[in-house]
Amino acid sequence: MSDGIEITEYSLALLKEATKARAKAHAPYSRFAVGVALRTASGKVYSGANIENTSYPEGWCAETSAISHMIMGAESAQDREIAELVVIADLTPPITPCGGCRQRIKEFATPQTRIHAADLAGIQHSYTLAALLPAAFHLEG
Ligand SMILES: [Zn+2]
Repeated sequence: MSDGIEITEYSLALLKEATKARAKAHAPYSRFAVGVALRTASGKVYSGANIENTSYPEGWCAETSAISHMIMGAESAQDREIAELVVIADLTPPITPCGGCRQRIKEFATPQTRIHAADLAGIQHSYTLAALLPAAFHLEG
């Protein structure tokens, strides 16, 4: 499913931001901190971490946090388009966005949007959103 690693200087900058975001995770229950950073088509960078809750289902993923920041900071359509995203956690092989987050990313992405999966050693796999979410749900015809 991975279509190789396609790392640019932008990917490495996102990896740095995702790592910083991961340090801010609120994960006292799972102790599994996740960080995400995304770059928009306009070049803006937003990050987020997972935020758990004592009522477990009320917590949310790092991707959700990052997308929320992107939408609040958006001033144009290009500010709302995810060009590239890095997710990092302390797990090898690295995690990829969960099913729900793949759909959340799709709302603001293209099939070619790059999703990079990183562990603490760096980016290990790169995917297109189309590879991670084939036959995605959408209402348009
Ligand atoms: Zn998720």
